[in-house]
Amino acid sequence: MSKNDLDQNRPGKPRAAAGMRDNGGSPPEMPMDYFPLFLNLKQQPCLLVGGGEIALRKMRLLASAGADLTVVAPQICDELLAEVRAGRLNWRPGEFSLSHIVGMRLVIAATDQPAVNQAVFAACESAGILVNAVDDPAHSRFITPAIVDRAPLTIALSTGGGVPVLARHLRAQLEALIPHGWGDLARLGSELRPLAKEKLPDPAARREFWENVLAGPIPDQVFAGQVNAARSALEDALHSGQPPVRGAVYLVGSGPGNPDLLTFRALRLMQQADVVLYDNLVSPAIMELVRRDAERVYVGKKASNHALPQEEINQLLVRLAQAGNKVLRLKGGDPFIFGRGGEEIAELAAAQIPFEVVPGITSAAGASCYAGIPLTHRDYAQSVTFVTGHRRATESEADKLELDWARLVNPQETVVVYMGVAQAGYIAEQLIQHGREANTPVAIIERATTPQQRVVISQLATLAADIHSAAIKPPALLIIGHVVELHGQLNWRQEAAS
Ligand code: SAH
Repeated sequence: MSKNDLDQNRPGKPRAAAGMRDNGGSPPEMPMDYFPLFLNLKQQPCLLVGGGEIALRKMRLLASAGADLTVVAPQICDELLAEVRAGRLNWRPGEFSLSHIVGMRLVIAATDQPAVNQAVFAACESAGILVNAVDDPAHSRFITPAIVDRAPLTIALSTGGGVPVLARHLRAQLEALIPHGWGDLARLGSELRPLAKEKLPDPAARREFWENVLAGPIPDQVFAGQVNAARSALEDALHSGQPPVRGAVYLVGSGPGNPDLLTFRALRLMQQADVVLYDNLVSPAIMELVRRDAERVYVGKKASNHALPQEEINQLLVRLAQAGNKVLRLKGGDPFIFGRGGEEIAELAAAQIPFEVVPGITSAAGASCYAGIPLTHRDYAQSVTFVTGHRRATESEADKLELDWARLVNPQETVVVYMGVAQAGYIAEQLIQHGREANTPVAIIERATTPQQRVVISQLATLAADIHSAAIKPPALLIIGHVVELHGQLNWRQEAAS
């Protein structure tokens, strides 16, 4: 969003787009079809007409709002009956009649007979009682919105009753966008309100305090389930008069490269970061989704030439967080699978910097699904092992990669080799020497899950030569084992396989 867009949304400015409503100060230009409000229905007498599935859904909603509920219907479904038996619902068996609405605050007609629903509407209208006929706005005084429930935070959405599916669609998007912990955050805020009022009597200072809190790591701490840590950080800040800490590090797995495979959590953090440290496994399509204003630091790693030594990356994370930044350390795949995630956060823990680790889809999982090669299968492999084909950088050329080869030769086990392309010939040789069949199939999967994905099918005996002739480039991984035979049948992506 540019500065211009922001200006246009400011209260008092003329609106740019027709149909958008400005609630910031001046009266809306277009009349509202419905007045939005939240109704306190605790212990209020409410009536449901109808005893089927739809009535049941409405009953649950009204019950969660604490209404004193009566249902009128000749028969009711088992679930409603159970509520009646549990004493949570009154049931007036029989057809709807005018006497039923006496004393009611709100009535919902949820029968499958339009004539009955209309009669309920007419009766309530003349008695001045709020009434809704389900899916029938013409016979409703109010309509019920689609809800995103993060109690006590509630978002209600309506398209004016026209196309309810639109509101539901938007709701699904909001569900994905708004962390589930928002309710906890709202609760924590109200819990600490009295203390904040006491310590910061000036409303402007209080507002600034909460704005700082929202800009810092505390909401994310709450969303990650660390409510107690968040509470004490807030209490400390209020008692000491210091603004709450702002800096934190988020070690986030970005998956194998396809942006659709990011987690919601990863995406949210990417859109809040002040600084992003990323390496060459993080695809450009994913970097596109990082907040535009965030500073980007390439700390890329290739097997042999590190752009920044690991130790420097660790220290940079600490420095940036101490300076008050929200630092996103974005890593390919999952941060805890061959990702040195453990080393990076050990330093943060020692420096007492708040941090969080967000899992990502590891490239073995991405490659397996997108190449149609299940890593386990009842007929082919009962277990899977992930190994690294990379030798430690400190080792001299004479040092060979040493894996526990004897453990990797079970024909009923799949072996996935990360960082194994350069050493593929040696790996194949060792596996054969230790007893794995020379014709064991191997899939080499390059840039898995991206539009450039390539799958080359080979076997241990010819692996090095096939990698050479196909000119495989990193990142690529090897899947070794009989599950590879399933590729021909399950390769749903149908890219050019060779
Ligand atoms: N943490 C990462 C792995 C880092 S090690 C993860 O969980 O996936 C780097 C190795 O991962 C690469 O050498 C390659 O073997 C593998 N890799 C990562 N992304 C890949 C991709 N899109 N396609 C194939 N292999 C990939």
